[in-house]
Amino acid sequence: MQTVLENKIFGVMVEPKDHIDEALLELFILDDQFPEAQRREIEAHLERCPACRHKLAELVMFYDILKEEMDKPIPDEVRKLLERIEKKK
Ligand SMILES: [Zn+2]
Repeated sequence: MQTVLENKIFGVMVEPKDHIDEALLELFILDDQFPEAQRREIEAHLERCPACRHKLAELVMFYDILKEEMDKPIPDEVRKLLERIEKKK
C-alpha cells in the first residue's frame, strides 16, 4: 500500500499503465543472463511503479523461502521410503 507521505517523498503522480509481466519479473530475479537493456527498462519501471515493486518484493520473498526449503536435508522418513522404493525395482 502506498501512503500519501510516500507519494510526496517519491513524487509519484502517475502510475504506469504497462505493468511488468510476473514471468518477466521472475526472470529478472532468477536469470543471471538477463539482458542488460531489459534489466534497465524494468528498473526504470519499478522506480515509477509501486504495484510492480510490491509484486517484485513478493516474488523475492517467495524464492527466498523456496531456496531455504531446497537447502534443507531430506528427512529420514522420506529417505527410508525412497530406499524401499528403490529396492523394489
Ligand atoms: Zn507496474
